[in-house]
Amino acid sequence: MKILIILAHPEEKSFNAAMFNTAISTLEKEGHEVKTTNLYRENYQPVSGKGNFTQLKNADYFKQQDEEVFALQQSTFMPDIVSEQEKIEWCEMMIWQFPLYWFSVPAILKGWIDKVFTMGKFYDNGKIFENGFSAGKKAILSVTTGGPEKNYVDDRYGNINSILFPIHRGILEFLGFSVVQPEVVYSVERLSEEERNRVLDNWSKRLINIEREITRD
Ligand code: FAD
Repeated sequence: MKILIILAHPEEKSFNAAMFNTAISTLEKEGHEVKTTNLYRENYQPVSGKGNFTQLKNADYFKQQDEEVFALQQSTFMPDIVSEQEKIEWCEMMIWQFPLYWFSVPAILKGWIDKVFTMGKFYDNGKIFENGFSAGKKAILSVTTGGPEKNYVDDRYGNINSILFPIHRGILEFLGFSVVQPEVVYSVERLSEEERNRVLDNWSKRLINIEREITRD
């Protein structure tokens, strides 16, 4: 399988980086082709706007989706967008590795999403969900939290699946991806060294069979 892994963490020695590196080495060992984007290392510029394009269709009134459709026809996306779009089109499975920030993705990943999943190329009228351009591809979120698991099963924080729903449904499934159950590591800073090693080991074991996993409910 062709697999794209995105990392959104500023620290190379973080646990998120360890999850990312574990995924790369496991999947490569299994014979998969792996491409990556390490957003902080690449100093990815996440602010989406006029700078997404080398040329604008309407410089008097900026409307991103109109400009995206124009840019697709004219090949006027900035190179950092084109290179990410090529990787997404190339892959058969995509993994996003990130720490939960304010019940969501870190801003650098949100900016990447806002910039790369452009209208006309990744979604369009009628080209969403089952008919999306990414139908047939798989996606998985690999997330760490600061809060303990017990807070994510009751009403205190809300169930983790409801927190991830906007990402699962509003982004990935909207685009056509089939989403499998997320890998969630709760309260990672409070785990012992041994527990963290076990988490990495379990992640590796899960990835070995990821091709056969069915999609989330
Ligand atoms: P790290 O602190 O990098 O790692 C944890 C420990 O693992 C460290 O001791 C590290 O040395 C160790 N480690 C690293 N590599 C390995 C390895 N190979 N083997 C064993 N151990 C290793 N939390 C929530 O629950 N909900 C929120 O909404 C939320 N919002 C946040 C918003 C912001 C802006 C920020 C900064 C944090 C927020 N948090 C939230 C907390 C955040 O999700 C956690 O701090 C994060 O998930 C921890 O992951 P990490 O990779 O940064 O951990």
